[in-house]
Amino acid sequence: MTAEPQANARECELCHGAGGTLLWQNDLCRVVVADEPGLPGFLRVVLGRHAREMTDLAAAERDRLMAVVFAVETHVRQSLEPDKMNLATLGNAVPHVHWHVIPRWRDDRHFPGAVWSPARHDRAPPAGRVARAAAMAAALPAALAARGL
Ligand SMILES: [Zn+2]
Repeated sequence: MTAEPQANARECELCHGAGGTLLWQNDLCRVVVADEPGLPGFLRVVLGRHAREMTDLAAAERDRLMAVVFAVETHVRQSLEPDKMNLATLGNAVPHVHWHVIPRWRDDRHFPGAVWSPARHDRAPPAGRVARAAAMAAALPAALAARGL
């Protein structure tokens, strides 16, 4: 694979900022709260260095990154019991490897569309769900540690 031109990393918002509220990190990646209005519990797993595509990573790095993504998904599922989990990597707007880990509910603003689709309503999520999402985020570091991460 070719090295990423320096200019891209220099301009990349995920190289220069956390991309959300930092919850956990190791030598490979970090987990942040996406802080998307109306979507409580939306987390992102962000690669710690600049790379555009999953296939720019060494196989061992991919495996380690996905172990974090799946551990985060498991923690979110167990904590929030959503109707569905969405895992996505796009990177069209910010071409730096990151995974979206998104709990979905039938009553959320975009369901059953992707969270990037037009909102179907503007009702706020239930307050209890917002509180559970905050508790889930606070418990994430211990949950990952319990999984050996
Ligand atoms: Zn970057």
